[in-house]
Amino acid sequence: MAIAPQRAKGRFPGYVYAQAPRNVYWEMTRACDLACRHCRANAEHNRDPRELTTEEGKALMRDVKEMGSMLILTGGDPMKREDLFELMAYGRGIHLPMGITPSTTPTLTRDVVARFAELGVSAMGVSLDGPNPGVHDAFRRVEGTFDCSMRALQWANELNVPVQINTTVTSETLPHLREVYRVLCERGAPAVRRWSLFLLIPVGRGAALGAPTPQQVEELFTWVYEISESAPFHVGTVEAPHYRRYWIQRKLAEGATDADIERIAPRMGFGIRDGNGVVFVSSLGEVFPAGFLPEPRLGSVREQSITQLYRASPALSVLRDADALHGRCGACEYRWPCGGSRARAFGMTGDPMGEDPLCAYQPAAAAEPRH
Ligand code: SF4
Repeated sequence: MAIAPQRAKGRFPGYVYAQAPRNVYWEMTRACDLACRHCRANAEHNRDPRELTTEEGKALMRDVKEMGSMLILTGGDPMKREDLFELMAYGRGIHLPMGITPSTTPTLTRDVVARFAELGVSAMGVSLDGPNPGVHDAFRRVEGTFDCSMRALQWANELNVPVQINTTVTSETLPHLREVYRVLCERGAPAVRRWSLFLLIPVGRGAALGAPTPQQVEELFTWVYEISESAPFHVGTVEAPHYRRYWIQRKLAEGATDADIERIAPRMGFGIRDGNGVVFVSSLGEVFPAGFLPEPRLGSVREQSITQLYRASPALSVLRDADALHGRCGACEYRWPCGGSRARAFGMTGDPMGEDPLCAYQPAAAAEPRH
């Protein structure tokens, strides 16, 4: 089924994904051999016996296929599930588009990457938080993970597996991003299709990490905008919807009209944010608006289908309504295409409808000026 977003009112368009998300994230397990410092899942070494079973996983896959969404297999480390390839083969059999984010450990071998190629994964996520082992391994807290990532990238290049590089942006990794970009330009082709810059959400272990300042984020946007023109892969942001606001501002300054912006809005993912266009299924089958927004619990796929939970949840209707946002986000003329990170608002202020603390923008209509 095709996704048919509705356009919301307002000068700049946003889209309400009321019927189906673009992506469903399934945390297949919380088990993982790494102990990354930004980990949402507070991953543990062993699998939880209460995880969704193989058959429950297949039922979830059928529902996601029916909605017409893509399924992202994540964790923890999906490689910790003995039935991973059985599930992926099932997904392929029902023509379900799938991405996977395996942990970069020695279990991610060339044979495994070859299986991903056979199973036709749309994208394999590979983490790269620094340009060398010193920065990356310190962040991931296990020596050798930088080499694992680079080996996985090399195999993906050889085996023609599309790769999405995931980089976490914190105050610690921020100074190294230009160098990471250089490494990707030199060693990423042809596999790397997208570089995702994930702006830290201070939950789980990540609560102890330093976030960049709003001004530093704004400078990051300037750089992302500039390299996007010539990068050999797509450069995107995650949990940083205010990049869309920055992008619109730049386009308007360059002479674009509202109609020009509207034309490209769907491609830029206008409106997609936690609970609107994405939804998260935990290892135990619990459903939440996003992996980094653990409130409210929407239900369990053991009791209702993901389709019912996504379409009928009153809590998601509220989250999707940009006119119901609080603080600067509620007063902002960019609230429909952007709307701020709901996960960050919740993580840093306790209010999932609050303003995004890492946005530097001061809307003209904001009741209370802030600095
Ligand atoms: S104030 Fe909120 S809605 Fe406006 S650009 Fe910033 S994060 Fe987006």
